[in-house]
Amino acid sequence: MIKENLLEIKQSLPENVTLVAVSKTKPIEDLQEAYAAGQRIFGENKIQEMVDKYEALPKDIQWHMIGHLQSNKVKYMAHFVNLIHGVDKFSTLKEINKQAKKHDKVINCLLQVKIAKEDTKFGLSFDEINEILASEAFAELKNIKITGFMGMATFTDNKEQLQEEFLSLKTFFDAHKLKTVTENCNLKTLSMGMSGDYILAIENGSNMVRVGSSIFGQRNYNA
Ligand SMILES: *Cc1c(COP(=O)(O)O)cnc(C)c1O
Repeated sequence: MIKENLLEIKQSLPENVTLVAVSKTKPIEDLQEAYAAGQRIFGENKIQEMVDKYEALPKDIQWHMIGHLQSNKVKYMAHFVNLIHGVDKFSTLKEINKQAKKHDKVINCLLQVKIAKEDTKFGLSFDEINEILASEAFAELKNIKITGFMGMATFTDNKEQLQEEFLSLKTFFDAHKLKTVTENCNLKTLSMGMSGDYILAIENGSNMVRVGSSIFGQRNYNA
């Protein structure tokens, strides 16, 4: 089923939208099936699990860390991670920069923006992002690059609310995209949308969707 699900979703996506197959909690065989169907971008939310899968699978896979980050574990993925979606603290950015420097590379990051009305979601406010991007301390980080923003909408069926949340981030993204282009900030990616809401997210400006259960089936435990 994984192959069929994947191809169906891919067909439905506009050309400019990148699909991240969220494989957290799923066994290696499931990822291999998606890989055989052509998928090359996988998203995980736990660093150790991503490291294990990276070591077991072909090296042309691009690994995206989509979970909330523990700074002390960044070092385990610095050598291979392709994009980190969930950066919601300046201190985390500094740690990523430090680890990237050790490998003489630049790690692409998305700042996570809090758009949901729920208290349970992580993320920076628009004001906090403005502050970070304008700061001298940020300009000194040469081994990271902010390539976009990531947002998670409220877990709800209310279409108007979802739309409002997605649009608020799209508007903020567009404003920054034009005015903030520096050596370590060039906004191209707007990561919004999961299995339940990715179509709406795309309609509201997303160009990267993170889809798990619609490809791999329901997860057995909450992760
Ligand atoms: C698990 C997860 C997803 C995928 O969720 P589905 O509803 O299974 O598509 C997307 N983004 C983040 C940050 C996640 O943790």
